[in-house]
Amino acid sequence: MRPDPLDLAKPQDTHPVRAALTARVQDLNDRFRHHGATAVLKAVLRDRVAGRIALVSSFGAESVALLHLAALVDRHVPVLFLDTGLHFAETLVYQQDLAERLRLSNLRVLRATPARLAAEDPFGALKFNDPDRCCTLRKTEPLQAALAGFDAWITGRKRFQSAGRAALAFFEPDPASGRIKVNPLAHWRAADVQAYIDENRLPRHPLVARGYPSIGCAPCTSRIRAGEDARAGRWRGQAKTECGLHLPAPVSPLAPQTTGEPE
Ligand code: SF4
Repeated sequence: MRPDPLDLAKPQDTHPVRAALTARVQDLNDRFRHHGATAVLKAVLRDRVAGRIALVSSFGAESVALLHLAALVDRHVPVLFLDTGLHFAETLVYQQDLAERLRLSNLRVLRATPARLAAEDPFGALKFNDPDRCCTLRKTEPLQAALAGFDAWITGRKRFQSAGRAALAFFEPDPASGRIKVNPLAHWRAADVQAYIDENRLPRHPLVARGYPSIGCAPCTSRIRAGEDARAGRWRGQAKTECGLHLPAPVSPLAPQTTGEPE
């Protein structure tokens, strides 16, 4: 394939491991350029083209579509759910119901350790005073620990969700960890998600019908008003738009990248 002239204009990463990761991701994106979500899921779950892999789900407003697609390919995929201790009660009930209904056999619930919570947030005030640190403590740290045995992880992010996700590809490098993030639904529109859920008669998170088209922790999620962006209710009134799981982390010496055998 001929190089994209725009890519040639970008500064090239000279770190050999990061450069190899970027090249691998580019190769995967080239291979799957004309494929869809199911083909990508089959490639990563059955053929292990990205190595050992887990699926990370918030069991939020749209999660059921990806979970259903993945379960059809391999219901034994490790599914990681971050229980921050601050979810809506409805999310926790929905998470259990959905895991049972889809017969997910390898659900892993991740939490910050009591010691970390006591040391970093003894009064439970971080969500108000420093939400970035709160997300790091309750989401990023437990997830990074749980991903230690994996080379890649699947997310449910889509291009339509925000300006920051508008150029999302099926595969993207996470240079800080050396892992690959896989976004099978990157090209789906909101209408595609709705149609998939309707056609397969999948249960939606109960808060969707009550004005929450995007659902995170209860203290940081509010109803949206008519005409607002779907994610307007997340961290309302703050500059924050992502929990930190998907923000570029500072680049450090890379964790060893393995091609790995299936678990
Ligand atoms: S979304 Fe809010 S409550 Fe949840 S971890 Fe982040 S800051 Fe804390």
